[in-house]
Amino acid sequence: KQPAAVIGAGIAGIATAVRLALKGHRVTVFEAQDTFGGKMHQFSLPGGYRFDAGPSLFTLPALVDELFRLAGREPQEHFRYQRLDPITQYFFADGTHLTAWADEEKFAAEVEAKLGTPAADVLTFLRRSGRAYAATESTFLRKSLHKAATYFSPDVLKAVAALPGLGLTSTMHQRHASAFADPRLVQLFDRFATYNGSDPYQAPATLSLIPHLEHGIGAFYPEGGIYRIAQSLVELAEELGVEFRYQEPVEEILTAGGHVTGLRTARDVYDFGLVVSNMDVVPTYRRLLPGQPAPERTLGQPRSSSALIFYWGVAREFAELGLHNIFFSQDYQQEFKAIFQEKTVSADPTIYVNVTSKLTPTDAPAGHENWFVMVNVPHNEGQDWDALIQTTRRAVLDKASRTLGTDVEALLRAEHVWDPRGIEQRTSSFGGALYGSSSNNALAAFLRHPNFSSKLDGLYFCGGSVHPGGGIPLCLLSAKIVADLI
Ligand code: FAD
Repeated sequence: KQPAAVIGAGIAGIATAVRLALKGHRVTVFEAQDTFGGKMHQFSLPGGYRFDAGPSLFTLPALVDELFRLAGREPQEHFRYQRLDPITQYFFADGTHLTAWADEEKFAAEVEAKLGTPAADVLTFLRRSGRAYAATESTFLRKSLHKAATYFSPDVLKAVAALPGLGLTSTMHQRHASAFADPRLVQLFDRFATYNGSDPYQAPATLSLIPHLEHGIGAFYPEGGIYRIAQSLVELAEELGVEFRYQEPVEEILTAGGHVTGLRTARDVYDFGLVVSNMDVVPTYRRLLPGQPAPERTLGQPRSSSALIFYWGVAREFAELGLHNIFFSQDYQQEFKAIFQEKTVSADPTIYVNVTSKLTPTDAPAGHENWFVMVNVPHNEGQDWDALIQTTRRAVLDKASRTLGTDVEALLRAEHVWDPRGIEQRTSSFGGALYGSSSNNALAAFLRHPNFSSKLDGLYFCGGSVHPGGGIPLCLLSAKIVADLI
């Protein structure tokens, strides 16, 4: 088997390296930073607060287990996780507090008790979400959509037959508004559009299958934090002989006669007939393949949202908070209009607070909590982020203080901020978008860049900016598709 190079040690790059090593390739991963993980890195703040910098919600853990099993390892000995129950604490603008329990019936009963919507309506909706997921995942998430063979399998016929009922012609919001009269429940389910950085007022109703991931299959938390996903897989990759070369950014992918021939890094030139880019596909073309024609239509697809994150060391514990907490805005439609049309941050944003010290007590000193406070924002187009950070910080502190009935600002002992500029700088993600291109279009799945180059033999792509999309599970699936294609 020929040696393979992977550009970037993000979660998809690591998983691709594992899969290619298992197929007998000698794999070298070139990483620009001094460590692995990309968006999934960790850091600490003075005073003893540890943070997962990026992803916080973990679904489909079986995709991680699968990698250990393929390598003949017992997953539990290398990577442990627990199923969350409850999953999320929701705080609505009108003061209603609702707990999302893992058990669907218990969750439906909570909705009936707190919002007055019949439990049966919630169960009907969740089961429909489950059916949509079952009908489509094997076609849309597990295979390349850009190879003819994909279209000749029985799974595809099943998925195509299900399409009319999945809602390509209506939006997620329309689907939820027709299922529920209570605007709070509509808001709760609309929020799942943000799981891939999209807008529920534009994204197709097909995405209403996302709640099934959390409510049907489950939300999970890795022992030690999200960072353990990347760390345990790097340990596995190294055991399999993968070489990680840190602080060695790739500067050019070398080609000759329609084939990939190697890489030029800041340090050296290497021969490789097989290269997988885990770098965002836009800068891969713009910076690493300067002489090659770029697929402009694909690269020009609208970006998904980005994030503004405040990492706070908080000198108190809050019994009403769990691992995942949502403080909803008053006007969701206006919030998404601000993000996707006005390309700014809403004055009243929905706030997501993730507190890993609830489950990993060593992440904060005794009696304290580590708050990861995230607001959805547009990708970077040169907005005045310093000004937006100041106004958003004030709005977030006011809302958190109002909701929790205490002056949160007075409790802050440590602080760090990450914004779209910083996300782009650290990971090379175009515009700092969290999930590559958005899914605000019924055909988005087909418009994402394929997992291979149709122009250059030996060049492949994995990660959140290409098929099947962003987020941990889809990044892991992109690695599977690439390894299968190779
Ligand atoms: P990335 O993580 O983008 O890594 C790419 C790597 O390539 C980086 O390490 C970079 O340094 C390296 N690189 C780039 N260019 C070069 C080069 N030229 N040479 C060498 N190396 C290079 N997902 C979820 O599932 N759940 C969540 O709750 C969630 N929340 C999120 C919150 C935030 C704040 C962020 C930022 C992301 C979140 N995501 C979430 C999305 C998820 O983190 C990403 O989809 C996923 O981690 C992306 O992985 P990736 O493999 O595409 O690469």
